[in-house]
Formats: sequence, structure tokens, C-alpha cells
Amino acid sequence: PSYEIGTIRERLANWVEASRPYAASGCVASYIPELAKSPHHALGISLLHASGESATAGDCGNRFTMQSISKVFTLILALMDNGEEEVFRKVGMEPTGDNFNSMLKLELVRPGIPFNPMINAGAITISSLIRGSSPEEVYRRILDFLRVLAGNQRLSCDEEVYRSESETGNLNRSIAYFLKQNGVLSGNVEDVLDVYFRHCSIQADCSDLARMALVLACGGLDPQTGTRLIPRRYVQIAKTFMTTCGMYNASGEFAIQVGLPAKSGVSGGILALVPGQYGIGVFGPALNDKGNSQAGVHLLEVISRELDWSMF
Ligand code: GLN
Repeated sequence: PSYEIGTIRERLANWVEASRPYAASGCVASYIPELAKSPHHALGISLLHASGESATAGDCGNRFTMQSISKVFTLILALMDNGEEEVFRKVGMEPTGDNFNSMLKLELVRPGIPFNPMINAGAITISSLIRGSSPEEVYRRILDFLRVLAGNQRLSCDEEVYRSESETGNLNRSIAYFLKQNGVLSGNVEDVLDVYFRHCSIQADCSDLARMALVLACGGLDPQTGTRLIPRRYVQIAKTFMTTCGMYNASGEFAIQVGLPAKSGVSGGILALVPGQYGIGVFGPALNDKGNSQAGVHLLEVISRELDWSMF
């Protein structure tokens, strides 16, 4: 690893600058009005090795909201709270091939059950499965879990983005009420949505994402202390969903071009990992038509090719 991290440190800034121009053909998300303020051409990356060595380049200090990246961890928490059987009674295990916020397939196979926990319908369902006596307590448990995984007690909610999404989230509301009508969501729909909007609005930087990813890369163990933070089986499930559904309807192409488990968010973040070795956090807010960071995906393609990181 010391040889490889040396190469990475030497070349990372060049790879970032070679990828940054790709942002030009992307668009910053604007359906959540607050996200439209994101810096279009920002691109940053942080890599953290299991040994504790790290490499960073570009705008890696920018803070951004986790958005759909948080879905990986709410899934894990729901599994820890309820077990596999219970969770998969409410959400499926299959990719959709549709956009992340699509309602199309909610009426198709297995009526009313979302296809997987990485699309909005699935993630909203997952939010309803996390234990807590109030929406505040459920959110607090999610935040505390992310703080432990990131090794950063300062993680918190970006109130502006939260308010912005909550005020304009009509499509997510429709999805949630539809799920309620079908008996998939239990509890108060607005409470569930509040938890969902809040956990999507948790702010992090590339290094926070890299640390969270490294826990997954280490099979659920704290990379510093060796303490088990997540049961191995649930890490396995999360990494599988990242591989099959993590980049939405571009997951197949990403598996071919990069070949690593990853999860993107509409703010332009990508969390990725090299099993047993690296946790990776990327930020590049200009998105392609599938809702993934345009320059960020390019950067991961370059790195994976150069270092022969594909798992396949
Ligand atoms: N909060 C966002 C939404 O529900 C998350 C979507 C995303 O990151 N793709 O629309």
C-alpha cells in the first residue's frame, strides 16, 4: 500500500484537473432550489487506506449534503434494527433501470413494494423502519451512527437544504402517500418524510465519506480500533446494493467502467470503496443526465483504470 499511496499522492491532483473540465457538460441539481447554489466546477477527492494513510486533491474541503449517499447507512441501520427478513418484506432487491425518483414501477411487480432501498421509494420505506419514539429520535440515531462511521462528531444537518427540500418535495410526498395507501409505510407519512429529508441533508466533506466508506471496505470494522461497528452480513448487503443500484440507472455502466461498489447523491457526492483497502469520497456537483457527478464519475474511471481497481 505504501508504494501505491505514493503513486496516488503524486498523480491525484493531475487526475482531478484532467477530470474537472467534464463538469462543463453537466448541470447542478436545481429541483431542490438550495442545491442550485453549489459551485459548478468544484471537484475534490479524498482516499483513506486501511493503514490510516490518506491522499486528497482538488476541492476536498468543500462541505455538501449527503443526499442519496445516506441511503446506504439508513439501510444498514434498518437491518440492524429489524433483521433481514423484516426489511425485505417491505423493499425488494432488484435494480429498476428507472430514475431515482421514479414512481413508474411502484404499481408493477410485487404491488406497491419498492424495487430496492437505493431509489427514493425504497429509502423512504427504510426511513419508516428505523426505531425511535419520535421522528427527532429516529433522525438523531441516524446522525449518531454516521458520526461514529465518519469518526467526526461535528456532522450535522444543513438546515437550508433541509428546508428547501421539505418545502418543494412534492414528488417524494406523492411517493410516500402512495406507499402509505398500499400499506408499505406504517406510521405518520409526514414524520417519515421529515426523517428522510433530514438524513438526506446531513453535511459532510470528502474525508468524512472516505472514512464511512473505509468502514464498509473493512467489512464493518472500525479501521483504527478493530471494533465491530456493523455486522458483516449487513455490510455485504449494502455493498451489493451499491454495486447493482448505487449509481441509479447508470449502475451497469459504472460497474463496467469503474468496477467498485459506490453510491452517489444528487448534491454531487460519490462514496466508493476498494474492498479491504480504500474508502473514497468524491465531490463534483455538476451532474450527468442520470443524476451522477459528471466529473466525479470520470475521475473514478481514470483512477480505477490506472490502478487496476475493478473488482471484476
Ligand atoms: N433528497 C434527494 C431526493 O429525495 C435525494 C436524491 C438523490 O440524491 N438522488 O430527491
